[in-house]
Amino acid sequence: MKARTMTKFVAAAAAAAIMLSGCGGSNTAGGGSGTNPTEPAKESASSKPAESQVVNVFTARHYDIDFKLFDEFEKATGITVNEVKGTAEELVERMKREGESSEADLFITVDGGVLNYAKESGVLQPIESEVAASNVPEKYWDSEKNWVAVSSRARVIVYALDRVTPDRLSTYEDLTSEQWKGKVLVRSSSNMYNQSLVASMIELNGEAAAEQWTKGMVANFARDPEGGDRDQAKAIAAGIGDAAIMNTYYVGQMLHSKDAEEVKVAEGLGVFFPNQETTGTHLNISGVGLAAHAKNKDNAIKLIEFMTGKEAQETLINESFEFPVNPEAELTELHKQWGEFKTQELDYAALGKHNKLATELMNKAGWK
Ligand code: FE
Repeated sequence: MKARTMTKFVAAAAAAAIMLSGCGGSNTAGGGSGTNPTEPAKESASSKPAESQVVNVFTARHYDIDFKLFDEFEKATGITVNEVKGTAEELVERMKREGESSEADLFITVDGGVLNYAKESGVLQPIESEVAASNVPEKYWDSEKNWVAVSSRARVIVYALDRVTPDRLSTYEDLTSEQWKGKVLVRSSSNMYNQSLVASMIELNGEAAAEQWTKGMVANFARDPEGGDRDQAKAIAAGIGDAAIMNTYYVGQMLHSKDAEEVKVAEGLGVFFPNQETTGTHLNISGVGLAAHAKNKDNAIKLIEFMTGKEAQETLINESFEFPVNPEAELTELHKQWGEFKTQELDYAALGKHNKLATELMNKAGWK
């Protein structure tokens, strides 16, 4: 899959190079002409000959729905989206190494801390777009507009509907109390979602409190952490534990899964938004940054405007069950059922800043 996209990318880059060297302006009008969107644009008709009709997206977010949105963008604009997949670290490293010659126009990843890491690595530049600025409220923007969120995700407590009543739940901190001994499920400390959750606690409550929480969690674990967020839900269904920490969108995806077993598991879960009386539920983001040396800057900005637009946001959350960042987007019935909730208020840069310490605290506590 990676090889295929890389090939596609190389092919498109080659096509762009040929066009640039040809530079004769023999293009036909109407760019893209609605042919197979997976083919690189061979007859790119741009009013700006220096800019071919492509946008190169370096993405660490490998969700089908993202690629569906890219296809829709291609159909709507004739601009070919080339994806280069990798881990966020690999991609940022590559952008740094290749410097001015980098082909990256956009960088997409989950996690606010990682977006900030990209910014601090010097691989991004400010996004100047009135459309994007009106699509997304300021709280979802980098302070210098180097990146903007495209979705948000809440990390919540889910519980066994048949064994737990929600009045027993209150905060993340309370999961370390006696009543949850041997009942708590959560994935490994190597996972970014947990690292950012603990990082948020360091930011909001201080290191000592965060450390105490990690120890208390480990003491209440129903089992050694294993699997992803969905596996914690499955472990609740199997009676291994009663409460788990997971992202809400997995509940939505499982409820709409083609796998009947997953639907059944999700139907047995209650979703609880913790810390409503205190610091708020942990909210993280996915986002997009504009590459410092983007060669297709106008197209890149068009894609950002598209992704943060009402329509694309609705398409996104209907499938991913994340939360939209554009307040105009109509929520699904499930989102409405979850209702409004108070979220943590913090600078997403803090998640990156405390990442190392958060991981150390979990490891020290024996959170595998
Ligand atoms: Fe996820």
